[in-house]
Amino acid sequence: MGDMPIIDEAKCQRCGLCVSICVCGALVMEDNAVKVIQVENCGWCTMCELVCPNGAISCPFEIVVETTRD
Ligand code: SF4
Ligand code: SF4
Repeated sequence: MGDMPIIDEAKCQRCGLCVSICVCGALVMEDNAVKVIQVENCGWCTMCELVCPNGAISCPFEIVVETTRD
């Protein structure tokens, strides 16, 4: 189990954008707060971080693209 997005509830305005952008179903709006569920579903795409207008989500992982040369 790896890292998961971190949601700062103090900054979150409950707009729901992150939930709708998450193609993996890793985020839900529950009890008027965004929760990360199904961490194993998270594809680490960082779209939730990008889409949040309030900077409430930070993804503590980076996408590292490795290229190999023949
Ligand atoms: S990083 Fe991508 S897959 Fe993971 S919670 Fe955010 S939007 Fe969903
Ligand atoms: S996009 Fe940001 S402000 Fe909107 S619900 Fe998600 S964490 Fe909260």
